[in-house]
Amino acid sequence: MTVDTYHCLNPVPFQINTERLLKLLCIKTADDPCAGRLLELAGMAEKIARPKALYRLCRMEKQTADAVIVEGVILSSRVLRVNLEPVHRVFVGLSTCGREMLQLVNAATDLLEKYWVDVMMEMALRAADQAMDAHIQLTYQPGPLSSMCPGSIEDWPITEQKPLFDIIGKQAGEIGVTLSASMLMEPIKSLSRIIFPSGSRFQSCRLCPMDRCTSRKAPYDPKMMASSFFNSRGGATRNMPLLP
Ligand code: SF4
Repeated sequence: MTVDTYHCLNPVPFQINTERLLKLLCIKTADDPCAGRLLELAGMAEKIARPKALYRLCRMEKQTADAVIVEGVILSSRVLRVNLEPVHRVFVGLSTCGREMLQLVNAATDLLEKYWVDVMMEMALRAADQAMDAHIQLTYQPGPLSSMCPGSIEDWPITEQKPLFDIIGKQAGEIGVTLSASMLMEPIKSLSRIIFPSGSRFQSCRLCPMDRCTSRKAPYDPKMMASSFFNSRGGATRNMPLLP
């Protein structure tokens, strides 16, 4: 039996919390001379933005020492393999702020306004992500979820975008997201990830030494890679079969 289900959320409802936006951009009051133009752009963003999300329910087929096979596609990452060890199904997701918001980049008249637009596109992307997580919970009741994105840690490099897109397949076109030869997604405010049930709430940030990252969600733990994903000799911590 094929277990293979796509869900497309298009468009995702999007409203900008202007209070939060002003705070994020360090504009203290709506009386600030910058605020009028910012709120004008925010109003335009709400009118044109069409964030979107797509995810696929996938079978876990096999695990090796440093890889997993999902829907016939090999994803090479030791951390991913260990995280998915107790799991029999995963969700491969793609979300985006939507190409419509690119019009706003053209409406921005200077670098500061382009930065504001960038922040609003990021907010639209987050709305798409949150809608996808909520839809997964409502549809499949998987319990607490964690996720990993290709390129977020050294162990799962950006080149792994390619196999992840192979799993998503041509349906990526339904939400207008493309992957370039250099592994960058277009629109740039798009996110691909593998989402999985996890009671321990894995966060890639704990394995990422990146300084001054404004998106950091958890402190870096330099010992975690060795203690949780490798033994002291750098070998497997768990006895899993290798690929034939
Ligand atoms: S610290 Fe920043 S760059 Fe590193 S995984 Fe977290 S969000 Fe990504």
